[in-house]
Amino acid sequence: MESIRLVILGAGPAGLAAAIYACRAKIPTLVLDKLSPGGQVLLSDWVENYPGFPDGISGVDLTDRLVAQARRFGMEQENGEVVSIHVTDPGRADGIRLVLDGGKEILTTSLIIATGASHRTLGVPGEKEFAGKGVSYCATCDGPFFKDSDVAVIGGGDSAVQEAIFLTKFAKKVFLIHRRDQLRAVRFLQEQALANPKIEPVWDTLVEEIHGKDRVEYLSLLNKKTGERSNLSLDGVFIFVGIHPNTAFLKDTVKMDQRGFILTDNWMRTSIHGVFAAGDCRSKPLRQIVTAVAEGATAAYAVEQEEFNE
Ligand SMILES: Cc1cc2nc3c(=O)[nH]c(=O)nc-3n(C[C@H](O)[C@H](O)[C@H](O)COP(=O)(O)OP(=O)(O)OC[C@H]3O[C@@H](n4cnc5c(N)ncnc54)[C@H](O)[C@@H]3O)c2cc1C
Repeated sequence: MESIRLVILGAGPAGLAAAIYACRAKIPTLVLDKLSPGGQVLLSDWVENYPGFPDGISGVDLTDRLVAQARRFGMEQENGEVVSIHVTDPGRADGIRLVLDGGKEILTTSLIIATGASHRTLGVPGEKEFAGKGVSYCATCDGPFFKDSDVAVIGGGDSAVQEAIFLTKFAKKVFLIHRRDQLRAVRFLQEQALANPKIEPVWDTLVEEIHGKDRVEYLSLLNKKTGERSNLSLDGVFIFVGIHPNTAFLKDTVKMDQRGFILTDNWMRTSIHGVFAAGDCRSKPLRQIVTAVAEGATAAYAVEQEEFNE
């Protein structure tokens, strides 16, 4: 089996930035993703905080630009989900073996893990049953289906608040349900949301159950401070309550923190020689596009330096 010099696992912003740097440095590189390129950026309707775009840019447009840039430098891309990695002889030409879901295997010298993160679920009754029937994790994808409807956004971080603002383009009313008495999102977003007449914050409140017949009809809520229970009628629920890393397939390989985010040094080196990590799957304080691309670039540069040092 032929061995590839570098495999980049994941074609979100971190993986695509790594591909731009690696391909430009003429490192033979294969980018693998189980889906089409873009990662979580495709879930973001409008990105306002990525430097260089003063008026913002849509998630789709930003992805297209990253892909075009990587292709210009010769990025090769394949579809496939990696289900396990096996490191036999780190640093050797075929020292890392990747196993894909169909059983196919790929050998590589270096690996950049850029598998990102996925949304967390609320874990309440009704959530699974009504997924796609009023329960959504992507306002960009599903927002337009809720024209003139009442919807709720669950969460209080940047994503929740930003997507609540986006949903006001379609919905008649957006209830922003948060378990605390203030939002976690950056002040700029908070001010925008709280000044929007279509957004009604619901503080200190937990969703206990999502109800309906064929589709979502109402939520049962618990006010944590007063202990009061109530029902809220609506047509859709958008859940943004955090993320978990896509690292389950790495068990017993690289070192991770307690939540499963990968530990690296400043060069994005993991605990295994030849294996690097970049982006949202890494243990770090800020998970954004700007940090993902910076880490992708650093990881590719580290691979290049390793090559020179071999
Ligand atoms: C709704 C929403 C809005 C957001 N808005 C903003 C914003 O305005 N500004 C901002 O800076 N950030 C925003 N973010 C965060 C930003 O999208 C992420 O920080 C960024 O996408 C992380 O990039 P990444 O490449 O590390 O991972 P991801 O974007 O998560 O990409 C990971 C890729 O790896 C692939 N993958 C995972 N596991 C495997 C496997 N086993 N085998 C093969 N492929 C695999 C996935 O399919 C995916 O394509 C938002 C996120 C969300 C969800």
